[in-house]
Amino acid sequence: MTHITKNLEDLKRRIAAACRSAGRNENQVSILAVSKLHPIEFIGEAVAAGLTRFGENYAQEAAEKIDQLDAELEWHFIGRVQSNKTRLIAEKFDWVQTVASEKIARRLSNQRPEELGPLNVCVQVDTDGNSAHGGASTAELHSLCGTIQSLPGLKLRGLMNIPLPTANQTAQREPFRQLKQEYDQLLDLGYELDTLSMGMTNDLEAAIIEGSTMIRIGTAIFGPRPV
Ligand SMILES: *Cc1c(COP(=O)(O)O)cnc(C)c1O
Repeated sequence: MTHITKNLEDLKRRIAAACRSAGRNENQVSILAVSKLHPIEFIGEAVAAGLTRFGENYAQEAAEKIDQLDAELEWHFIGRVQSNKTRLIAEKFDWVQTVASEKIARRLSNQRPEELGPLNVCVQVDTDGNSAHGGASTAELHSLCGTIQSLPGLKLRGLMNIPLPTANQTAQREPFRQLKQEYDQLLDLGYELDTLSMGMTNDLEAAIIEGSTMIRIGTAIFGPRPV
């Protein structure tokens, strides 16, 4: 058994326990394996262990991995989107979870190759109001969602956030609860969303309790990242 297979079993136990205490079904929470900075061999092992969705933060690094792996995998861009990388991202990825401005949304839509179909996107929301990790403010969220909805190259799937780290689970839950509220409001307005991307290795339990449908997990699957 590789360390990745073993880690994945431990992770699934954590997810199952969190779902049990939240009264949710395990199959409502999918795993995005965050492979940034890890070698391509690790991704191969993760695929062998049954994972199919991968998240990457750096466009160039990711493009090389995507080109080398010919398996039918789903690639999510989860890093900060720089204007000069939108073409590469629009051509290589299936999803972008970190759309936070109209300018970036329009570039991704324009540069998405038509034969690939619309690029799935989540709006990254700055629920802490700290902007350390970027993200749209809650004040600009509705107009940004309206713009994305009107762009032919994009398909709006949901929301994501990256809260400031804290060890306390009660404190961890607050930004997730806020994001879930924004998500529910958009559903009430008629948006057809299915993805609430929240929770990482250190706060996945809090995120699952607050309704996460996709957790983004690096360390708990692959171990610490090389620095
Ligand atoms: C790196 C990263 C993750 C994974 O973090 P871990 O703590 O290693 O699970 C998740 N989401 C984003 C946006 C990241 O940049």
